[in-house]
Amino acid sequence: MAEFTRREAIEIFGATLATLLINPTVYASQIGDTGVKISFEETDKPGIIFIVGDGMPVSTLTALYRLRQNLGTKMTFYRRFQDPNTVVAYMGTASLSSVVTDSAPASAAWATGTHTANHFLSVLPNGKILKTIGEIAKENDYEVGFVTTTRVTHATPAAWYSHNKDRDDEANIALEALKLKPAVLMGGGLKYFSKNTNPKLPNDTLSDFKKEGYEVYTDKNQLKNIDYNKPILGLFNKSHIDYYIDRLNDKKLENQPSLALMSAIALKKLQMAKKGFVLQIEAGRIDHANHANDAFGALMETAELDQVLDVVDDYISKNPKTLVIVTSDHGTGGFGVYGTGLDYNDSTEAFLKYKQVKASIPYIANKIDNKSPKEVQEIVEYYTGFPISLDEAQLIIESRSPAFTGITGNYLYRAYDSCALGAVLAKCVYPISKDGDQIGKPDLRRGNIYFVSTTHTGEDQVVLAYGYRAQEVINSRRFENTDLYKSMLNFLRISYHKNPTMSSAQAKVYLKELYKSCSYEKLASSLELHVS
Ligand SMILES: [Zn+2]
Repeated sequence: MAEFTRREAIEIFGATLATLLINPTVYASQIGDTGVKISFEETDKPGIIFIVGDGMPVSTLTALYRLRQNLGTKMTFYRRFQDPNTVVAYMGTASLSSVVTDSAPASAAWATGTHTANHFLSVLPNGKILKTIGEIAKENDYEVGFVTTTRVTHATPAAWYSHNKDRDDEANIALEALKLKPAVLMGGGLKYFSKNTNPKLPNDTLSDFKKEGYEVYTDKNQLKNIDYNKPILGLFNKSHIDYYIDRLNDKKLENQPSLALMSAIALKKLQMAKKGFVLQIEAGRIDHANHANDAFGALMETAELDQVLDVVDDYISKNPKTLVIVTSDHGTGGFGVYGTGLDYNDSTEAFLKYKQVKASIPYIANKIDNKSPKEVQEIVEYYTGFPISLDEAQLIIESRSPAFTGITGNYLYRAYDSCALGAVLAKCVYPISKDGDQIGKPDLRRGNIYFVSTTHTGEDQVVLAYGYRAQEVINSRRFENTDLYKSMLNFLRISYHKNPTMSSAQAKVYLKELYKSCSYEKLASSLELHVS
Protein backbone atom coordinates (compact mmCIF):
# COMPACT_ATOMS: atom_id res chain seq x y z
CA MET A 1 0.00 0.00 0.00
CA ALA A 2 1.39 3.42 -0.91
CA GLU A 3 2.26 5.90 1.83
CA PHE A 4 -0.77 8.06 1.16
CA THR A 5 -3.26 5.23 1.41
CA ARG A 6 -1.71 3.84 4.59
CA ARG A 7 -2.14 7.18 6.34
CA GLU A 8 -5.75 7.37 5.19
CA ALA A 9 -6.38 3.87 6.46
CA ILE A 10 -5.50 4.96 9.98
CA GLU A 11 -7.78 7.97 9.85
CA ILE A 12 -10.88 6.17 8.71
CA PHE A 13 -13.08 4.19 11.14
CA GLY A 14 -13.81 1.62 8.49
CA ALA A 15 -17.58 1.37 8.87
CA THR A 16 -19.01 -0.08 5.67
CA LEU A 17 -22.49 -0.11 4.26
CA ALA A 18 -23.01 -3.57 5.74
CA THR A 19 -21.93 -2.72 9.29
CA LEU A 20 -24.01 0.43 9.27
CA LEU A 21 -27.13 -1.17 7.94
CA ILE A 22 -26.97 -4.26 10.10
CA ASN A 23 -26.32 -2.69 13.48
CA PRO A 24 -29.34 -0.80 14.80
CA THR A 25 -27.37 0.65 17.74
CA VAL A 26 -25.53 2.79 15.21
CA TYR A 27 -28.83 4.51 14.46
CA ALA A 28 -29.73 5.07 18.09
CA SER A 29 -26.31 6.58 18.75
CA GLN A 30 -26.84 9.19 16.05
CA ILE A 31 -29.16 10.97 18.41
CA GLY A 32 -27.50 9.94 21.66
CA ASP A 33 -23.88 10.55 20.80
CA THR A 34 -24.02 14.23 21.72
CA GLY A 35 -25.14 13.20 25.17
CA VAL A 36 -28.49 14.78 24.29
CA LYS A 37 -31.52 12.63 24.88
CA ILE A 38 -34.35 14.06 22.88
CA SER A 39 -37.76 13.20 24.27
CA PHE A 40 -41.09 14.61 23.28
CA GLU A 41 -44.01 15.88 25.35
CA GLU A 42 -47.58 14.76 24.73
CA THR A 43 -49.60 17.47 22.99
CA ASP A 44 -52.70 17.63 20.81
CA LYS A 45 -51.44 20.47 18.60
CA PRO A 46 -51.58 19.97 14.85
CA GLY A 47 -48.36 19.77 12.88
CA ILE A 48 -47.22 18.94 9.35
CA ILE A 49 -43.93 17.11 8.88
CA PHE A 50 -43.07 17.26 5.18
CA ILE A 51 -40.13 14.97 4.42
CA VAL A 52 -38.30 15.24 1.10
CA GLY A 53 -35.76 12.80 -0.27
CA ASP A 54 -34.29 15.07 -2.93
CA GLY A 55 -33.71 13.18 -6.20
CA MET A 56 -34.85 9.94 -4.51
CA PRO A 57 -36.59 7.83 -7.17
CA VAL A 58 -38.36 4.60 -6.18
CA SER A 59 -35.42 2.67 -7.66
CA THR A 60 -33.11 4.04 -4.94
CA LEU A 61 -35.63 3.22 -2.20
CA THR A 62 -36.10 -0.30 -3.54
CA ALA A 63 -32.36 -0.90 -3.67
CA LEU A 64 -31.97 0.05 -0.01
CA TYR A 65 -34.98 -2.12 0.88
CA ARG A 66 -33.48 -5.14 -0.91
CA LEU A 67 -30.06 -4.59 0.59
CA ARG A 68 -31.58 -4.42 4.06
CA GLN A 69 -33.67 -7.50 3.36
CA ASN A 70 -30.51 -9.39 2.45
CA LEU A 71 -28.85 -8.22 5.64
CA GLY A 72 -31.88 -9.15 7.74
CA THR A 73 -32.82 -5.60 8.73
CA LYS A 74 -35.98 -3.60 8.11
CA MET A 75 -36.73 -0.27 6.53
CA THR A 76 -39.23 2.10 8.14
CA PHE A 77 -40.16 3.64 4.79
CA TYR A 78 -41.35 0.24 3.56
CA ARG A 79 -43.19 -0.54 6.80
CA ARG A 80 -45.16 2.67 6.26
CA PHE A 81 -45.50 1.90 2.53
CA GLN A 82 -47.11 -1.47 3.34
CA ASP A 83 -49.38 -0.14 6.11
CA PRO A 84 -53.03 -0.03 4.88
CA ASN A 85 -53.52 3.23 6.81
CA THR A 86 -50.88 4.98 4.73
CA VAL A 87 -52.07 6.92 1.71
CA VAL A 88 -49.83 5.95 -1.22
CA ALA A 89 -49.95 7.99 -4.41
CA TYR A 90 -47.97 8.92 -7.48
CA MET A 91 -47.17 12.55 -8.12
CA GLY A 92 -46.31 14.35 -11.35
CA THR A 93 -43.25 16.62 -11.16
CA ALA A 94 -43.07 18.59 -14.45
CA SER A 95 -42.42 22.32 -14.05
CA LEU A 96 -43.78 25.28 -16.00
CA SER A 97 -40.76 25.30 -18.31
CA SER A 98 -39.91 21.62 -18.64
CA VAL A 99 -41.04 18.02 -18.37
CA VAL A 100 -37.94 17.57 -16.19
CA THR A 101 -37.94 19.81 -13.14
CA ASP A 102 -35.15 21.06 -10.94
CA SER A 103 -35.56 21.33 -7.19
CA ALA A 104 -36.61 25.00 -7.20
CA PRO A 105 -39.98 24.85 -9.04
CA ALA A 106 -40.66 21.36 -7.61
CA SER A 107 -40.47 22.65 -4.07
CA ALA A 108 -42.27 25.88 -5.06
CA ALA A 109 -45.12 23.73 -6.44
CA TRP A 110 -45.67 22.17 -3.00
CA ALA A 111 -45.29 25.55 -1.32
CA THR A 112 -47.53 27.66 -3.56
CA GLY A 113 -49.82 25.41 -5.61
CA THR A 114 -48.43 27.02 -8.78
CA HIS A 115 -45.96 25.76 -11.37
CA THR A 116 -43.05 28.08 -12.04
CA ALA A 117 -40.00 27.69 -14.29
CA ASN A 118 -36.79 25.79 -13.61
CA HIS A 119 -34.34 27.85 -11.54
CA PHE A 120 -37.17 30.01 -10.07
CA LEU A 121 -38.08 30.08 -6.36
CA SER A 122 -41.76 30.93 -5.69
CA VAL A 123 -41.94 33.69 -8.27
CA LEU A 124 -43.31 33.49 -11.81
CA PRO A 125 -41.13 34.35 -14.83
CA ASN A 126 -43.15 37.60 -15.18
CA GLY A 127 -42.09 38.61 -11.66
CA LYS A 128 -45.39 37.89 -9.91
CA ILE A 129 -44.77 36.73 -6.34
CA LEU A 130 -46.17 33.39 -5.20
CA LYS A 131 -47.10 33.34 -1.54
CA THR A 132 -45.67 30.24 0.16
CA ILE A 133 -47.02 27.77 2.68
CA GLY A 134 -44.28 29.02 5.03
CA GLU A 135 -45.56 32.60 4.85
CA ILE A 136 -49.22 31.63 4.99
CA ALA A 137 -48.65 29.37 8.02
CA LYS A 138 -46.82 32.21 9.83
CA GLU A 139 -49.64 34.68 9.05
CA ASN A 140 -52.02 32.21 10.65
CA ASP A 141 -49.93 31.89 13.84
CA TYR A 142 -48.31 28.55 13.04
CA GLU A 143 -44.58 28.16 13.54
CA VAL A 144 -42.35 27.05 10.65
CA GLY A 145 -39.10 25.08 10.56
CA PHE A 146 -36.55 23.72 8.06
CA VAL A 147 -33.98 20.99 8.45
CA THR A 148 -31.75 19.83 5.59
CA THR A 149 -28.44 18.18 4.76
CA THR A 150 -27.85 20.79 2.03
CA ARG A 151 -27.18 24.47 2.60
CA VAL A 152 -30.28 25.94 4.25
CA THR A 153 -30.43 28.39 1.33
CA HIS A 154 -30.55 25.57 -1.25
CA ALA A 155 -33.60 25.25 -3.47
CA THR A 156 -35.86 22.85 -1.53
CA PRO A 157 -36.05 24.81 1.73
CA ALA A 158 -35.59 28.16 -0.07
CA ALA A 159 -38.70 27.75 -2.24
CA TRP A 160 -40.79 27.80 0.96
CA TYR A 161 -39.54 31.25 2.04
CA SER A 162 -37.83 32.96 -0.92
CA HIS A 163 -39.10 34.72 -4.05
CA ASN A 164 -36.04 34.80 -6.24
CA LYS A 165 -35.70 34.26 -9.98
CA ASP A 166 -32.23 32.87 -9.34
CA ARG A 167 -31.94 29.91 -6.98
CA ASP A 168 -28.17 30.49 -6.91
CA ASP A 169 -28.51 33.95 -5.33
CA GLU A 170 -28.00 32.33 -1.94
CA ALA A 171 -26.59 35.34 -0.05
CA ASN A 172 -29.86 37.19 -0.69
CA ILE A 173 -31.89 34.04 -0.10
CA ALA A 174 -30.35 33.91 3.43
CA LEU A 175 -31.77 37.39 4.05
CA GLU A 176 -35.18 36.20 2.92
CA ALA A 177 -34.97 33.38 5.48
CA LEU A 178 -34.57 36.02 8.19
CA LYS A 179 -37.63 37.82 6.85
CA LEU A 180 -39.77 34.70 7.41
CA LYS A 181 -38.31 34.12 10.91
CA PRO A 182 -38.61 30.35 11.10
CA ALA A 183 -38.45 28.88 14.62
CA VAL A 184 -35.80 26.44 13.38
CA LEU A 185 -33.39 26.60 10.43
CA MET A 186 -30.76 23.87 10.44
CA GLY A 187 -28.34 22.40 7.90
CA GLY A 188 -25.22 23.61 6.09
CA GLY A 189 -24.41 26.86 4.30
CA LEU A 190 -22.44 29.01 6.75
CA LYS A 191 -20.67 30.62 3.76
CA TYR A 192 -23.85 32.52 2.84
CA PHE A 193 -24.34 33.87 6.39
CA SER A 194 -20.96 34.59 7.93
CA LYS A 195 -18.55 37.26 6.69
CA ASN A 196 -15.92 35.58 8.86
CA THR A 197 -16.26 32.42 6.79
CA ASN A 198 -16.68 34.24 3.48
CA PRO A 199 -15.24 37.80 3.38
CA LYS A 200 -16.81 38.37 -0.07
CA LEU A 201 -20.31 38.40 1.44
CA PRO A 202 -21.96 41.83 1.20
CA ASN A 203 -23.62 41.40 4.58
CA ASP A 204 -22.99 39.45 7.80
CA THR A 205 -26.42 37.86 7.93
CA LEU A 206 -25.36 35.78 10.92
CA SER A 207 -25.23 38.96 13.07
CA ASP A 208 -28.66 39.94 11.77
CA PHE A 209 -30.06 36.59 12.91
CA LYS A 210 -28.47 37.08 16.34
CA LYS A 211 -29.97 40.58 16.58
CA GLU A 212 -33.37 39.03 15.93
CA GLY A 213 -32.88 36.76 18.95
CA TYR A 214 -31.62 33.60 17.26
CA GLU A 215 -29.21 31.29 19.05
CA VAL A 216 -26.60 30.15 16.53
CA TYR A 217 -25.03 26.67 16.55
CA THR A 218 -22.14 25.63 14.31
CA ASP A 219 -20.96 22.41 15.98
CA LYS A 220 -22.81 19.25 16.99
CA ASN A 221 -21.35 19.42 20.51
CA GLN A 222 -23.03 22.79 21.14
CA LEU A 223 -26.35 20.99 20.84
CA LYS A 224 -25.83 19.50 24.31
CA ASN A 225 -26.85 22.84 25.77
CA ILE A 226 -29.52 23.91 23.35
CA ASP A 227 -31.79 26.77 24.42
CA TYR A 228 -35.29 25.84 23.26
CA ASN A 229 -36.68 29.19 24.34
CA LYS A 230 -34.91 30.95 21.48
CA PRO A 231 -35.30 30.45 17.73
CA ILE A 232 -32.60 28.12 16.42
CA LEU A 233 -30.15 28.72 13.56
CA GLY A 234 -27.84 25.73 13.04
CA LEU A 235 -25.19 25.96 10.30
CA PHE A 236 -22.84 23.01 10.63
CA ASN A 237 -20.69 23.30 7.53
CA LYS A 238 -19.55 26.01 5.11
CA SER A 239 -21.39 24.38 2.25
CA HIS A 240 -23.59 21.26 2.39
CA ILE A 241 -23.43 18.85 5.33
CA ASP A 242 -20.96 16.11 4.31
CA TYR A 243 -22.24 12.77 3.06
CA TYR A 244 -23.54 10.49 5.80
CA ILE A 245 -21.09 7.66 5.12
CA ASP A 246 -18.16 10.12 5.28
CA ARG A 247 -19.42 11.72 8.50
CA LEU A 248 -19.49 8.30 10.10
CA ASN A 249 -16.06 7.31 8.87
CA ASP A 250 -13.95 10.46 9.01
CA LYS A 251 -13.21 11.90 12.46
CA LYS A 252 -12.74 15.38 10.95
CA LEU A 253 -16.43 15.45 10.02
CA GLU A 254 -17.70 14.29 13.41
CA ASN A 255 -18.86 17.76 14.46
CA GLN A 256 -21.71 17.71 11.93
CA PRO A 257 -25.00 16.37 13.31
CA SER A 258 -27.07 13.68 11.61
CA LEU A 259 -30.31 14.57 9.86
CA ALA A 260 -32.15 12.51 12.50
CA LEU A 261 -30.62 14.53 15.34
CA MET A 262 -31.46 17.85 13.67
CA SER A 263 -35.00 16.61 13.00
CA ALA A 264 -35.48 15.55 16.63
CA ILE A 265 -34.30 18.97 17.85
CA ALA A 266 -36.57 20.74 15.36
CA LEU A 267 -39.59 18.72 16.53
CA LYS A 268 -38.77 19.36 20.18
CA LYS A 269 -38.63 23.09 19.46
CA LEU A 270 -41.72 23.17 17.26
CA GLN A 271 -43.91 21.26 19.66
CA MET A 272 -43.65 24.36 21.88
CA ALA A 273 -45.51 26.36 19.19
CA LYS A 274 -48.77 27.80 20.53
CA LYS A 275 -51.01 26.75 17.68
CA GLY A 276 -49.04 24.15 15.67
CA PHE A 277 -46.37 24.04 13.00
CA VAL A 278 -45.13 23.15 9.54
CA LEU A 279 -41.70 21.48 9.37
CA GLN A 280 -39.86 20.60 6.17
CA ILE A 281 -37.12 17.98 6.55
CA GLU A 282 -34.92 17.33 3.52
CA ALA A 283 -32.45 14.52 2.90
CA GLY A 284 -31.00 16.77 0.24
CA ARG A 285 -27.92 14.86 -0.85
CA ILE A 286 -29.51 11.69 -2.21
CA ASP A 287 -29.79 13.87 -5.31
CA HIS A 288 -26.13 14.88 -5.16
CA ALA A 289 -24.96 11.28 -4.82
CA ASN A 290 -27.13 10.29 -7.79
CA HIS A 291 -25.75 13.24 -9.80
CA ALA A 292 -22.27 11.86 -9.04
CA ASN A 293 -23.46 8.38 -10.09
CA ASP A 294 -22.55 7.27 -6.58
CA ALA A 295 -24.73 4.22 -5.87
CA PHE A 296 -23.65 3.53 -2.31
CA GLY A 297 -23.56 7.23 -1.42
CA ALA A 298 -27.20 7.51 -2.50
CA LEU A 299 -28.12 4.38 -0.51
CA MET A 300 -26.55 5.76 2.66
CA GLU A 301 -28.24 9.15 2.30
CA THR A 302 -31.53 7.27 1.90
CA ALA A 303 -30.72 5.22 5.03
CA GLU A 304 -30.35 8.51 6.88
CA LEU A 305 -33.79 9.59 5.69
CA ASP A 306 -35.14 6.30 7.03
CA GLN A 307 -33.74 7.12 10.50
CA VAL A 308 -35.69 10.38 10.37
CA LEU A 309 -38.87 8.34 9.92
CA ASP A 310 -38.03 6.53 13.20
CA VAL A 311 -37.66 9.87 14.99
CA VAL A 312 -40.97 10.99 13.49
CA ASP A 313 -42.64 7.75 14.65
CA ASP A 314 -41.50 8.53 18.18
CA TYR A 315 -42.86 12.08 17.87
CA ILE A 316 -46.27 11.16 16.47
CA SER A 317 -46.79 8.45 19.11
CA LYS A 318 -47.03 11.37 21.58
CA ASN A 319 -48.47 13.95 19.17
CA PRO A 320 -51.21 12.13 17.30
CA LYS A 321 -52.53 15.21 15.48
CA THR A 322 -49.54 15.23 13.15
CA LEU A 323 -49.70 14.74 9.39
CA VAL A 324 -46.59 13.19 7.81
CA ILE A 325 -45.87 13.46 4.08
CA VAL A 326 -42.84 11.69 2.60
CA THR A 327 -41.91 12.18 -1.05
CA SER A 328 -39.27 13.12 -3.60
CA ASP A 329 -39.15 16.07 -5.99
CA HIS A 330 -37.79 14.21 -9.07
CA GLY A 331 -35.55 11.32 -10.05
CA THR A 332 -31.81 11.75 -10.68
CA GLY A 333 -29.38 9.84 -12.87
CA GLY A 334 -31.59 6.89 -13.78
CA PHE A 335 -30.37 4.88 -10.77
CA GLY A 336 -31.09 1.23 -11.49
CA VAL A 337 -30.10 -2.19 -10.22
CA TYR A 338 -29.31 -3.80 -13.57
CA GLY A 339 -29.58 -7.47 -14.47
CA THR A 340 -26.25 -9.28 -14.75
CA GLY A 341 -25.30 -12.78 -15.81
CA LEU A 342 -27.21 -15.45 -17.66
CA ASP A 343 -30.93 -14.93 -17.04
CA TYR A 344 -29.84 -12.15 -14.64
CA ASN A 345 -28.92 -14.75 -12.06
CA ASP A 346 -25.71 -13.00 -10.97
CA SER A 347 -27.60 -9.83 -10.11
CA THR A 348 -27.96 -10.41 -6.38
CA GLU A 349 -24.29 -11.29 -5.92
CA ALA A 350 -23.17 -8.21 -7.82
CA PHE A 351 -25.64 -6.03 -5.91
CA LEU A 352 -24.46 -7.22 -2.50
CA LYS A 353 -20.88 -6.26 -3.33
CA TYR A 354 -21.75 -2.67 -2.41
CA LYS A 355 -21.78 -3.77 1.24
CA GLN A 356 -18.02 -3.28 1.51
CA VAL A 357 -17.92 0.37 0.46
CA LYS A 358 -16.75 2.88 3.08
CA ALA A 359 -16.70 6.32 1.46
CA SER A 360 -18.71 8.42 -0.96
CA ILE A 361 -17.41 8.84 -4.51
CA PRO A 362 -16.84 12.60 -4.06
CA TYR A 363 -14.76 11.79 -0.95
CA ILE A 364 -12.69 9.25 -2.88
CA ALA A 365 -12.41 11.60 -5.85
CA ASN A 366 -10.79 14.23 -3.62
CA LYS A 367 -8.14 11.71 -2.60
CA ILE A 368 -7.09 10.82 -6.13
CA ASP A 369 -6.07 14.20 -7.49
CA ASN A 370 -2.38 14.28 -8.47
CA LYS A 371 -2.02 10.55 -7.92
CA SER A 372 -0.53 7.99 -10.30
CA PRO A 373 -2.80 5.32 -11.87
CA LYS A 374 -1.18 2.75 -9.56
CA GLU A 375 -2.02 4.82 -6.47
CA VAL A 376 -5.56 5.40 -7.74
CA GLN A 377 -5.97 1.62 -8.03
CA GLU A 378 -4.98 1.24 -4.38
CA ILE A 379 -7.14 4.11 -3.14
CA VAL A 380 -10.22 2.87 -4.98
CA GLU A 381 -9.76 -0.68 -3.75
CA TYR A 382 -9.19 0.49 -0.18
CA TYR A 383 -12.39 2.55 -0.01
CA THR A 384 -14.66 0.37 -2.13
CA GLY A 385 -13.29 -3.16 -1.94
CA PHE A 386 -13.40 -3.31 -5.76
CA PRO A 387 -10.11 -3.93 -7.58
CA ILE A 388 -9.86 -1.91 -10.80
CA SER A 389 -7.49 -2.12 -13.76
CA LEU A 390 -4.77 0.43 -14.60
CA ASP A 391 -6.75 1.51 -17.67
CA GLU A 392 -9.77 2.16 -15.49
CA ALA A 393 -7.64 4.11 -13.00
CA GLN A 394 -6.43 6.21 -15.95
CA LEU A 395 -10.05 6.84 -17.05
CA ILE A 396 -10.95 7.96 -13.53
CA ILE A 397 -8.00 10.38 -13.47
CA GLU A 398 -9.02 11.77 -16.87
CA SER A 399 -12.61 12.21 -15.70
CA ARG A 400 -11.36 14.74 -13.11
CA SER A 401 -9.84 16.94 -15.81
CA PRO A 402 -11.74 19.99 -17.14
CA ALA A 403 -11.05 18.66 -20.65
CA PHE A 404 -13.04 15.48 -20.02
CA THR A 405 -16.40 15.61 -21.76
CA GLY A 406 -18.07 12.44 -20.58
CA ILE A 407 -17.80 8.75 -21.05
CA THR A 408 -20.94 8.13 -23.02
CA GLY A 409 -23.70 10.00 -24.80
CA ASN A 410 -24.47 13.70 -24.59
CA TYR A 411 -25.87 13.70 -21.12
CA LEU A 412 -22.92 12.43 -19.13
CA TYR A 413 -21.30 15.80 -19.12
CA ARG A 414 -18.20 16.54 -17.16
CA ALA A 415 -17.88 14.38 -14.09
CA TYR A 416 -17.69 17.04 -11.41
CA ASP A 417 -16.83 14.42 -8.83
CA SER A 418 -15.76 11.53 -11.03
CA CYS A 419 -18.90 9.86 -12.26
CA ALA A 420 -16.51 7.64 -14.21
CA LEU A 421 -15.79 5.91 -10.92
CA GLY A 422 -19.46 4.97 -10.49
CA ALA A 423 -19.53 3.48 -13.99
CA VAL A 424 -16.27 1.60 -13.44
CA LEU A 425 -17.55 0.05 -10.20
CA ALA A 426 -20.76 -1.14 -11.84
CA LYS A 427 -18.93 -3.23 -14.40
CA CYS A 428 -19.36 -6.98 -14.89
CA VAL A 429 -17.75 -8.89 -17.80
CA TYR A 430 -18.58 -12.40 -19.03
CA PRO A 431 -16.74 -14.70 -21.46
CA ILE A 432 -18.70 -14.89 -24.70
CA SER A 433 -18.67 -17.79 -27.16
CA LYS A 434 -18.22 -17.42 -30.95
CA ASP A 435 -22.03 -17.37 -31.26
CA GLY A 436 -22.30 -14.53 -28.80
CA ASP A 437 -23.54 -16.67 -25.91
CA GLN A 438 -22.37 -16.08 -22.39
CA ILE A 439 -20.27 -19.01 -21.24
CA GLY A 440 -18.70 -20.04 -17.95
CA LYS A 441 -17.99 -17.97 -14.87
CA PRO A 442 -17.71 -14.17 -15.06
CA ASP A 443 -14.28 -12.72 -15.88
CA LEU A 444 -15.11 -9.78 -13.71
CA ARG A 445 -17.99 -9.18 -11.35
CA ARG A 446 -18.31 -5.89 -9.53
CA GLY A 447 -21.50 -4.07 -8.57
CA ASN A 448 -24.49 -3.62 -10.87
CA ILE A 449 -26.05 -0.29 -9.94
CA TYR A 450 -25.77 1.74 -13.07
CA PHE A 451 -26.83 5.24 -14.09
CA VAL A 452 -27.75 6.46 -17.53
CA SER A 453 -27.04 10.14 -16.97
CA THR A 454 -25.90 12.70 -14.41
CA THR A 455 -29.10 14.74 -14.79
CA HIS A 456 -32.61 14.78 -13.31
CA THR A 457 -35.35 12.55 -14.68
CA GLY A 458 -39.03 13.21 -15.26
CA GLU A 459 -40.89 10.16 -13.95
CA ASP A 460 -43.64 10.38 -11.31
CA GLN A 461 -42.53 10.19 -7.69
CA VAL A 462 -44.17 8.21 -4.91
CA VAL A 463 -45.91 10.01 -2.03
CA LEU A 464 -46.61 8.45 1.37
CA ALA A 465 -48.96 10.30 3.74
CA TYR A 466 -49.83 9.04 7.19
CA GLY A 467 -50.92 10.26 10.57
CA TYR A 468 -53.78 12.60 11.38
CA ARG A 469 -56.34 13.26 8.59
CA ALA A 470 -54.03 11.83 5.92
CA GLN A 471 -56.87 10.09 4.07
CA GLU A 472 -59.02 13.20 4.25
CA VAL A 473 -56.55 15.76 2.92
CA ILE A 474 -55.03 13.53 0.22
CA ASN A 475 -57.93 11.98 -1.61
CA SER A 476 -56.47 11.13 -5.00
CA ARG A 477 -53.98 8.44 -5.90
CA ARG A 478 -52.34 10.37 -8.71
CA PHE A 479 -51.93 14.13 -8.72
CA GLU A 480 -49.50 16.91 -9.62
CA ASN A 481 -47.00 18.23 -7.06
CA THR A 482 -48.99 21.51 -6.85
CA ASP A 483 -51.90 19.61 -5.21
CA LEU A 484 -49.99 19.08 -1.95
CA TYR A 485 -50.26 22.85 -1.30
CA LYS A 486 -54.04 22.50 -1.08
CA SER A 487 -53.72 19.41 1.15
CA MET A 488 -51.50 21.31 3.60
CA LEU A 489 -53.82 24.36 3.76
CA ASN A 490 -56.76 22.01 4.27
CA PHE A 491 -54.93 20.26 7.11
CA LEU A 492 -54.10 23.59 8.81
CA ARG A 493 -57.75 24.68 8.27
CA ILE A 494 -56.62 27.80 6.45
CA SER A 495 -58.86 29.07 3.65
CA TYR A 496 -57.44 28.55 0.17
CA HIS A 497 -55.14 31.28 -1.11
CA LYS A 498 -55.02 31.21 -4.90
CA ASN A 499 -51.64 32.20 -6.28
CA PRO A 500 -51.30 33.63 -9.80
CA THR A 501 -50.50 31.19 -12.62
CA MET A 502 -49.23 31.42 -16.18
CA SER A 503 -49.13 29.06 -19.15
CA SER A 504 -45.95 27.48 -20.49
CA ALA A 505 -46.40 29.48 -23.69
CA GLN A 506 -46.58 32.77 -21.76
CA ALA A 507 -43.56 31.74 -19.70
CA LYS A 508 -41.52 31.10 -22.84
CA VAL A 509 -41.63 34.77 -23.77
CA TYR A 510 -39.95 35.72 -20.49
CA LEU A 511 -37.53 32.79 -20.48
CA LYS A 512 -36.21 33.34 -24.02
CA GLU A 513 -33.70 35.96 -22.89
CA LEU A 514 -32.60 33.92 -19.87
CA TYR A 515 -31.93 30.76 -21.83
CA LYS A 516 -30.54 32.25 -25.04
CA SER A 517 -27.04 30.95 -24.33
CA CYS A 518 -26.57 27.47 -22.95
CA SER A 519 -23.02 26.28 -23.42
CA TYR A 520 -21.62 22.98 -22.26
CA GLU A 521 -19.47 24.93 -19.78
CA LYS A 522 -22.52 26.73 -18.40
CA LEU A 523 -24.34 23.42 -17.86
CA ALA A 524 -21.38 21.90 -16.08
CA SER A 525 -20.74 24.90 -13.81
CA SER A 526 -24.44 25.14 -12.90
CA LEU A 527 -24.43 21.50 -11.77
CA GLU A 528 -21.20 22.01 -9.87
CA LEU A 529 -22.66 25.02 -8.05
CA HIS A 530 -25.67 23.04 -6.84
CA VAL A 531 -23.97 19.90 -5.64
CA SER A 532 -20.57 20.89 -4.24
ZN1 LIG B 1 -34.22 18.17 -6.29
